Amino acid sequence: MSNIVVFFHRPNIMESMKRLQAYKFQILPSGEQRRDMRRFAGACRFVFNKALAWQNERYAAGKTVKFSYTTLANLLPLWKQDPAISWLKESPSQPLQQTLKDLERAYLNFFAKRADFPRFKKKGHADSFRYPQGYKLDQANSRIFLPKLGWLRYRNSREVLGVVKNVTVSGKQGKWFVSIQTEREIETPAHPSTAIVGIDMGIARFATLSDGSYFAPLNSFKHQEKALVKAQRAMNRKQKFSNNWKKAKANVQLIHARIGNARRDYLHKATATISQNHAMVGIEDLQVRNMSRSASGTTGTPGKNVRAKSGLNKAILDQGWFEFRRQLDYKLAWNGGQLVAVPPRNTSRTCLCCGHVVKENRLSQSRFECVECGFEENADLVGAINVLRAGHARLACADTSPAVGASGQEPTEATQAIAA
Ligand SMILES: [Zn+2]
Repeated sequence: MSNIVVFFHRPNIMESMKRLQAYKFQILPSGEQRRDMRRFAGACRFVFNKALAWQNERYAAGKTVKFSYTTLANLLPLWKQDPAISWLKESPSQPLQQTLKDLERAYLNFFAKRADFPRFKKKGHADSFRYPQGYKLDQANSRIFLPKLGWLRYRNSREVLGVVKNVTVSGKQGKWFVSIQTEREIETPAHPSTAIVGIDMGIARFATLSDGSYFAPLNSFKHQEKALVKAQRAMNRKQKFSNNWKKAKANVQLIHARIGNARRDYLHKATATISQNHAMVGIEDLQVRNMSRSASGTTGTPGKNVRAKSGLNKAILDQGWFEFRRQLDYKLAWNGGQLVAVPPRNTSRTCLCCGHVVKENRLSQSRFECVECGFEENADLVGAINVLRAGHARLACADTSPAVGASGQEPTEATQAIAA
C-alpha cells in the first residue's frame, strides 16, 4: 500500500482559554456529618423524583410539556411547608435547587436527543448533592467548609488551581468524596507535534489509527460479566435485606466498580497517548447512542434485529466509545490540539486506491477488498485512513476551526449514554 502523506498547517497563535477542571478528593467525615450527608442526598433525590413526577402528571393531563426551572423552584418552598415532608427544611436549600437544575439539564438533553427521558433516582445509586456557593476551601489545612455540614477534612493529594465554581459531594459504597470544580484562564499551548491522524472505532480493535497502530478491545465487561451474573444470582437467592443479602449486594457493587475502574483506566491511557502524539485527530461523527437505541427499538415496536444487534451494541457500550471521544476532545484541547469530527458516510466502503464506493468492498467486519481494482487491506485501517482524508478535507476548506467542541472543558464523566 502506498504511504499517504498529509501536511497539516496550523497558525502559530497563542490564545487564552478558560479551563474548567474538577478535583476529586475523599473526605473524612464525622459520624454526624456522615448521617447528614446521607440525609441531604436523600432529600435531593426526593426533590428530583417529586419534580419529575409532578412534570409527568402535568404531561399526562395534557398540559404543557416544557420544563420550567423557575416554576419548580417556586414550588420548593411550598413543599417544605407540607407537614408530611417538612424534613426537607433540614437540608441546605441550594443543593435542592441544584437538583432541579440537573433535572432541567436532563430534559434539555432529552429534547436535544442526547439522552433518554429523565428517570427516577433510586436510593443508594449515585448519592450526591451540589453546592453552587457558600463553601470555603482551606487547602493549607486540608479541609473544606460546606453549608449545614461545617468543616470536613479531605485527603489532600494535589493542589486545586483556579476559582472554585461549585462543589459536589457524593457517596459510594460507604465512602464520601468532594468534587471541586474550578475555572481558570490559561494560555492555549502550541501542540508539540504536527502529526495528524484518523481513527476508526471498531469491535475487534477498539481503535485503529491511520498510521497502522491500534488499540486492543477493552472487553473488561466480558471478562467480568460471568462473575457479575453469578454474584447477582447469589444475591437474588438471599432473603431481601437479610445480612447475607447485604453481603451479596456489596459483592455485586464491588464487581461493578471494578469494571468501571478498568474501563476508565484504559480509556484515560489510550486518550492520553493519542492526544500527546497528534495535533489533530479525525474521528467519525458516530451517534453512539443511536446505534444502541436502534436495536432495542421503541416500546411499541421492538427492534427487528434485537438479538443480532444486542451483542454488538453491548460491546460498543462496554468499550465506551462515547467516553473515549469526550476525553480525546478535552485532552487535545488542553494540549493545543484539535478533534475534527467527520461524517461517517462511506468511510468503511471507499477504496483507498481507486476511490470506488460500494458496500461489497467490505467483505467482513475485518477485511476490505475492492471489487473494482482488487486492493486489499484490513477494513479498520481503510476506515481510519478515509477518516483522516475526510478530516483533512474539512480542515482545508474551513480553516475556521474548531469543528467539535474543543472547549478545553472537563465536564463530569459522561456516563449517561454508556451506563452499564
Ligand atoms: Zn479500488
